[in-house]
Amino acid sequence: MSRYMSSRFSALEAYVPGEQPQDRQYIKLNTNESPFPPSPQVIAAVNSSQVEKLNLYPDPDCRGLRKKLAEYYNVGEENVFLSNGSDDVLNFAFMAFCDGQHPVAFPDISYGFYPVYAKLHNLPAREIPLNPGFILNPDDYCGLGCTIVLANPNAPSGRAIPPEEIGKILESNPDNVVVVDEAYVDFGARSCVELIQSHDNLLVCMTFSKSRSLAGGRLGFALGDARLIDDLNRLKFSTNPYSINRLTLVAAEATLDSQDYYRQNCQAIMENRSYTVEALDKLGFTTIPSLANFIFTRCPKMDGITLYHKLKERGILVRCWDKPALRDYVRVTIGSREQMDAFLSQIQAIMKEKG
Ligand SMILES: *Cc1c(COP(=O)(O)O)cnc(C)c1O
Repeated sequence: MSRYMSSRFSALEAYVPGEQPQDRQYIKLNTNESPFPPSPQVIAAVNSSQVEKLNLYPDPDCRGLRKKLAEYYNVGEENVFLSNGSDDVLNFAFMAFCDGQHPVAFPDISYGFYPVYAKLHNLPAREIPLNPGFILNPDDYCGLGCTIVLANPNAPSGRAIPPEEIGKILESNPDNVVVVDEAYVDFGARSCVELIQSHDNLLVCMTFSKSRSLAGGRLGFALGDARLIDDLNRLKFSTNPYSINRLTLVAAEATLDSQDYYRQNCQAIMENRSYTVEALDKLGFTTIPSLANFIFTRCPKMDGITLYHKLKERGILVRCWDKPALRDYVRVTIGSREQMDAFLSQIQAIMKEKG
């Protein structure tokens, strides 16, 4: 830290993203990206005539895309907020809806960015323990009187709770916003988007990074009551009104015109997930039931960090953690069938080597 850095950030520990090594070709099962490219329509839409327009600013209101998303999710255009990845959306939500009177609460095991945003904005934070097996008890969040942030499905467990339980949490915290981060909702979980009609304290965050093969395009959005959306826009327009670039806007609109393609991809991921879990079961692994595009699994012979290193030597990247509750596990993104077969054959080899 330089001597010029503001002291208000002296305790800030930045989020560490999953590694994106450039040295060699890995099978990347570490950052929950899609193994599938964007749809052919998306690839065609981002063409040279769009590149030629890069001298012009993009539409800061993202009207074309907002309209399409509103239609898709059956909400009004005034219920849609867009920004540069859902990390950016979450940052604005922490900034907008939390302060000394509205502390933030989230599970002690969840998306690693939540505690970083809490520190960044100097917010009092309550980390609510999950039950054994990474099970979230919705009652723990009822009547909490905090701004609540829940990833559903949760990371890194992959477990989800039903919208009925989210409804109870919303109703028991009428004076607080409940942010539901549905980054992984398209892989078999149920969305709580319908609840925004009846609950003005619900903000649902979503992303194009996982199920829509656009992690490199950086596009996230939130759905909620028009007043919550206005609050977020006030902050976005005080920071960077052009946070979504022209090419990403074009790509995202074309994405929404290719629903069948993305539905099929999600279907394939869900099938590959069952296939991988079954194969790991036979090898003695314990896997948490997942409704996401990743699994959280425990090797019977070594801890997660050891397995991570052995897989990396063999050209496969997964994610592991040093935290006591997580160190026995690795998180494995579900990729294509070929990628999962490569992963499973390396796992078999590692297990054999260990005897
Ligand atoms: C990946 C992820 C995000 C961030 O997505 P981006 O749109 O790529 O910023 C947000 N929340 C959770 C739980 C995630 O896993």
